[in-house]
Amino acid sequence: MVQLAFLGFGVGQALFCRLYSTHYAMTVREILRMGDPRLLRTAQPVTEYDSDALHLLVSDLWDTMRAANGAGLAAPQIGEDWQLVVFGGTGRNPRYPDRPEVPATVLINPVITPLGDAQEEDWEGCLSVPGLRGLVPRPARIRYTGFDQYGDPIDRSVEGFHARVVQHECDHLWGRLYPTRMRDLTRLGFVDVMFPELAGLDDD
Ligand SMILES: [Zn+2]
Repeated sequence: MVQLAFLGFGVGQALFCRLYSTHYAMTVREILRMGDPRLLRTAQPVTEYDSDALHLLVSDLWDTMRAANGAGLAAPQIGEDWQLVVFGGTGRNPRYPDRPEVPATVLINPVITPLGDAQEEDWEGCLSVPGLRGLVPRPARIRYTGFDQYGDPIDRSVEGFHARVVQHECDHLWGRLYPTRMRDLTRLGFVDVMFPELAGLDDD
């Protein structure tokens, strides 16, 4: 069954109290939009963990993601050429109660491995492609590994919406935007045209 899963908008009010968030003033950065060549780069690996610069970047990503009601955000989307994404932690959306929660995650230098051949299609949006939605096929189950901002390893096997969010965000690190993953561009359109019931709720 195709389930509506909109990355990048309307996921409710996030209540985060990450320790490092108290150390820096809130900073909402400009989100680059499709057409900006900085979104097409392959991002650089992070080589130093637990640095002030890294914590500041992570703080900016969370602040910017929450201000835009996003489900995730990648460093290249704010013009930072690093293999770093944040996602999840936005709680359960009352409009989509069946959509599982995704834990708040800082993922650095990620490696994604599909588990099995199963693919799923679902609707995606992107803060760098505002106002649009597209039906995107992706591997249904993946393993992802990487590190958090302290250098502690992350190793998870996930499926469904969680797997989709991770793949969408990490695609930004390889210079890919979701329309380039679509097989049928007739399934790309404006959210207020395709899903008028969501008009006014869309923060993209
Ligand atoms: Zn995106």
